[in-house]
Amino acid sequence: MTSNKAYILLGTNLGNREENLEKAIEKISRFCIRIIVRSSVFETAPWGFESDNLFLNQVIWIETQLNAYELLDKLIKTEKQLGRKRIGTGYHSRTIDLDILYFNDEIIQSESLTIPHPRLHTRSFTMVPMAEIAPNFIHPGLQCSQKEILDKLVDKNEVVLHISSE
Ligand code: AMP
Repeated sequence: MTSNKAYILLGTNLGNREENLEKAIEKISRFCIRIIVRSSVFETAPWGFESDNLFLNQVIWIETQLNAYELLDKLIKTEKQLGRKRIGTGYHSRTIDLDILYFNDEIIQSESLTIPHPRLHTRSFTMVPMAEIAPNFIHPGLQCSQKEILDKLVDKNEVVLHISSE
């Protein structure tokens, strides 16, 4: 049996945000072997657009038999089931956003999928939860640990602890 490990970033800034995270994790747990770890939940300002609705962000580490493309497909279906509407391109409010940050230590660059996620290392809302649960995990492209990336981060947007995983 092939077993893959992936880190997924969850983001939500519409509706009942805590419930959106719970529902997404519940749905994800149905198509993977297990959720190994969940980070704390952090509250963060929208990135790349203006909105009064703050985001909640969380990273989960999962074990799955799916390959990266199958996992992406399931995540896109989960976003749709949770009522996410795609409004053109660019950044906007959403009930749930699910991004694959890392998939094992694979580097994938195709039309539909880029792994590691291309912008993860520039964003504090990704790096704070990532460094919390996997400080020593090495970014396969940059060859730096999550802790090293976080320490060097230029993005100083506030990332506020909302629900501790402890
Ligand atoms: P968005 O949800 O707006 O961030 O964009 C989702 C789209 O980005 C998907 O349809 C994917 O084809 C594409 N994509 C590329 N790389 C990734 C990734 N690592 N995780 C999630 N979506 C990705």
